[in-house]
Amino acid sequence: MKRGWVNKSFQYLKLGDRISPADNVRYYFSIEVLEFTESVLKEYGSIEPSHEGIVLWAGRKNDNKIIVNSAIAPDTDSSGTHIIIKPESMVRFITFLSDSKLTYVGQIHSHPGSWVGHSSGDNDLSCFKREGLISFVAPNYGLEGILPFSQCGVHRYMDGNFTLLSKTYVAKRMKILGIQAKLLDLRNKMDIRWNVKNGID
Ligand SMILES: [Zn+2]
Repeated sequence: MKRGWVNKSFQYLKLGDRISPADNVRYYFSIEVLEFTESVLKEYGSIEPSHEGIVLWAGRKNDNKIIVNSAIAPDTDSSGTHIIIKPESMVRFITFLSDSKLTYVGQIHSHPGSWVGHSSGDNDLSCFKREGLISFVAPNYGLEGILPFSQCGVHRYMDGNFTLLSKTYVAKRMKILGIQAKLLDLRNKMDIRWNVKNGID
């Protein structure tokens, strides 16, 4: 029975606190996923004062090839220093995955400054933790975008922990393709955070 996407027997090459797993995994991101992700994080970052933001990524896996072709912006509670996905939004996310026959690949969330490590909250509260799940942390509330990926902390859940992947590994294994994406925005647009008038002056 498959336990996840990453074989637990991989050898690790230590590079400081970042590692380059000796595997054959390749990630292919839809450019539409990344553009949507950047726009959502920038909207959170543009709240005054800035909020952390989050986007969930889904896709398909063929052997060692992981195709990230879907992005979901869940509804959240957020502030400048935290973000939590609302439970009802998680239910809709799971339904979307099931209906679309997609698999949860990982998530990206933003941090206030340049630190792109995982907080203890990030480690403890991340949803659906399983082998191979990826977790990006974008610096500076994502206001400067998420590309190149080297500016983000790219973590992967391996052997029961989130581990930071080396910039070399990320650059070599994570590519961007012009493939179509499924995008889903579950945020409540009537929420005051998004400054959208509800038609009542
Ligand atoms: Zn965090």
